[in-house]
Amino acid sequence: MLTQQLPTASVTLYTRLQERWNAGLPCPSDIAFALSTSLLWLLLYNERFWQLTVQAMWRPSIGSIVFLATLFVVTLSLQSILLLMWPTRWLMRAAASALFVIAALGSYFCSEYGAIMNKEMMRNVLQTDVAEVGALLNPELWLHVGLLGLVPAVLVWRVRLPNTPFKRQLSRRALAVLAALAISVLSLFSSPANYATFFRQHKPVRFTLSPAAEVVSMAELLADTRGKASASLLDPAGAAERTAAPAPKPLVLFLVIGETARAANFQLGGYARETNPELSRIAGVTYFQHTMSCGTSTAISVPCLFSHLPRAQFDVDTAAHYTNLLDSLAKAGFDVEWRDNNSGCKGVCARVTSIDYSNSNDPRYCADSNCFDEVMLSDLPARLAKITRDTVIVFHQKGSHGPAYAQRYPTAFETFQPACRSNQLQHCTPQEITNAYDNTIAYTDHVLARQIEMLQNAALRLDSLLIYVSDHGESLGENGIYLHGMPYAFAPAVQKEVPMLVWTSASYARRAGLNADCLQTSAALPVSHDFFYHTVLAAAEVRNQVYDRHLDLISGCRDAGGGE
Ligand SMILES: [Zn+2]
Repeated sequence: MLTQQLPTASVTLYTRLQERWNAGLPCPSDIAFALSTSLLWLLLYNERFWQLTVQAMWRPSIGSIVFLATLFVVTLSLQSILLLMWPTRWLMRAAASALFVIAALGSYFCSEYGAIMNKEMMRNVLQTDVAEVGALLNPELWLHVGLLGLVPAVLVWRVRLPNTPFKRQLSRRALAVLAALAISVLSLFSSPANYATFFRQHKPVRFTLSPAAEVVSMAELLADTRGKASASLLDPAGAAERTAAPAPKPLVLFLVIGETARAANFQLGGYARETNPELSRIAGVTYFQHTMSCGTSTAISVPCLFSHLPRAQFDVDTAAHYTNLLDSLAKAGFDVEWRDNNSGCKGVCARVTSIDYSNSNDPRYCADSNCFDEVMLSDLPARLAKITRDTVIVFHQKGSHGPAYAQRYPTAFETFQPACRSNQLQHCTPQEITNAYDNTIAYTDHVLARQIEMLQNAALRLDSLLIYVSDHGESLGENGIYLHGMPYAFAPAVQKEVPMLVWTSASYARRAGLNADCLQTSAALPVSHDFFYHTVLAAAEVRNQVYDRHLDLISGCRDAGGGE
């Protein structure tokens, strides 16, 4: 009996499941479909949103309770509009499918990394590359996106909606959109003071609402880029002229753009650990103690560094329509080259030679499509040996890019142990994260020291100078925030305070008449990325129409008679 019953039971179960699947999930109307999907998002995908909202707005008062209750209704209504706005049911289902995946991804990064889904984050998403994405992937993320993204994305196609004439469907959805808007407006008026506080003082919170934040931010970004697109290249800098008479030796400038290095972990800036063992011993290094970045992401900071505009006037959407620092240097007769081991030059190297090292397969520095920054130095001595004219080489580092810090340096550089070896930072202790991060800084220290050594070795033939500055800082879990990219006004200081240093060869310092004491004094002043453009121009002995001597850290330190 038993042996016969078992297979029958399992066959019955299978048949039942198949019937269930074929029958689909009954749903009374399009509106119910949109509301229940929106409800699911609010309850299962927005842990971080509610946590931050309650933290920011909760008071033991009726007003506060009313606010939170109406906020629930507002977000429920507004997110259901994302589904009701489509003219056909097919589009509504397709939108729901896509939004489930987007919401799953968004909620993962918001709760695990404290990320914010604003316009700048969407810009990072659009400008990322395979290596950056690869560094973020982990089994937990796959599981999260599988369960909360792909499964519901498939299930929405099994929802069975009643047969309603198309026109009636359309008019009902339109009415529902209007009702959702009306309910939202009424809710805002029920608690205006609380909503004003919420929107003005806690701006980043709304950028964690998935999937609405991703959709709105992406739309904003596309509108901005399209609105400001123009074909012509503007050249406010005009002609670029040399300010010094030709010197016997060619001038070589190394501009090293760091990645995610924060000032707080630089020994040269007072950090207690030996993260700059090599640079600390090199003569001619001036470390700027208080440097603020232009942005909190590569996509903003890199174009901003090379723009003549200060942060207050800089607009990343129009940056590509202006000539930049490299154009002026090329115009002044420099041979300009961009070397990249990061995710590209963000438009800055559009008109100069550029070499991508991030996909090299040099076994000394690369494995599994990941290269250490020394890869950009592999052919450098040979390159220096051939230099006969003034040259600028930009090095765009991979630096300390997270979350896989341990992949940024060779094992021999694992000085601080134990180091977090996972890209799921929340699974490591704060100490392990700091250890891994500090190892990346110590490796950058080594790379810079090697670059300086190469310039020193060529000192008989070349006058040289190296400027290093990081694009932005990093959060290492302070207050539950990881990585970078927070809106500038709300970002913690560690995301904005960056290391910057200048090294000059002895012969360059003589040629330019640089006063070392003066440089050390200016190194104690508060400076920012705004100074980079004008300081590099001055270092290169170049002047153009947008040069601003107030943002030049070098010219004020020339002794009379030296240089110009
Ligand atoms: Zn960056």
